[in-house]
Amino acid sequence: MGRLLALAAGRMGYHTHIYCPEADCPASFVARHHTCAAYDDTAALDAFAEQVDVATFEFENVPAKTALRLAEKGVVRPSWKALEIAQDRAKEKTFFTDIGAATAPWKPIHSLADLKAALKSIDTPAILKTTRLGYDGKGQVRINDKSEAEAAWASLTANQTGVRGPEPFAILEGFVKFTKEISVIAARGLDGTVECFEPVENVHKNHVLHTTAAPAHLSSATAKTALSIAERAAEALDLVGIVAVEMFVTSYGGVLVNEMAPRPHNSGHWTLDACPTDQFTQLIRAICGLPLGDTVRHSNAVMSNLLGDEILDLDKYYADPAYQVYVYGKTEARPGRKMGHVTRLSKKNNELNSC
Ligand code: AMP
Repeated sequence: MGRLLALAAGRMGYHTHIYCPEADCPASFVARHHTCAAYDDTAALDAFAEQVDVATFEFENVPAKTALRLAEKGVVRPSWKALEIAQDRAKEKTFFTDIGAATAPWKPIHSLADLKAALKSIDTPAILKTTRLGYDGKGQVRINDKSEAEAAWASLTANQTGVRGPEPFAILEGFVKFTKEISVIAARGLDGTVECFEPVENVHKNHVLHTTAAPAHLSSATAKTALSIAERAAEALDLVGIVAVEMFVTSYGGVLVNEMAPRPHNSGHWTLDACPTDQFTQLIRAICGLPLGDTVRHSNAVMSNLLGDEILDLDKYYADPAYQVYVYGKTEARPGRKMGHVTRLSKKNNELNSC
């Protein structure tokens, strides 16, 4: 993500400086400067802040304290506040409820007693998710029956030591029988203008994004609701940057928000090849105070992630001119690790939205 962002900035003539605790991070190979230091290294953070005009992030688990420290020294876009909400599922759900967007039913969970009580009002199957640091299915357990409460709580808290704060450790969320998963990426400029990329359809395998298809086949009412939620989120966050909102579509066409990420998103990679302005360029435009670019899709696209060893299949994609190929330059192909992606383009039809 950082690499694609640095490449977009480079195309616009900017020099990028990557701050990352990892030595050989893929973005460092295409950026002018790289600070390799821990997120809590205040001296390194202050030196970094001195050298940049604006800082952004491509990963929402950068500690909010780190972003706050940078914000005190200079400009961080979007704000550390957006990070703080996106890092905590309970705060995120409350945020969406406050802007009038529906979510799955949920309850904050501090203890096993809370979980047992919540299972009286939220039907099984349900999902117990840690409020913080969960992604791609990590930090979550499915509960198929109330009798599984103890085992689910034990598995989620297994590696937790020390005293927990007053914030809920987890949420219990009702299981959504969705017909589709979709996402919308909204960008908001310094002048408050909002531009959205159209809704796209996402297929996850083992909780990890497998493919994104543009366009999504949705009724126009469902598409409108999804776009409006993303727009309202960008406005309520007072965002200068981009936010991806992931949503479930139910059988009656309703839209329930799952989560958001105030950064470039895997489900926006298709925009690199199918839109005049891609999500990375749009983010650079927003944080540099430039006008937002045109987001109207000119081609149909299906983006597929290359996970782990799938990166060894590159030849077949290079051999087919319909594919655009992206390799992230990660040094080790661990199972399930996102190593690159391919996007297959096809001609845009004069399509009408269909259910
Ligand atoms: P998350 O870590 O919340 O993004 O979840 C990863 C994936 O798990 C989602 O994209 C869904 O496919 C599935 N999932 C998460 N929460 C729910 C839910 N409440 N109901 C049904 N599926 C879910």
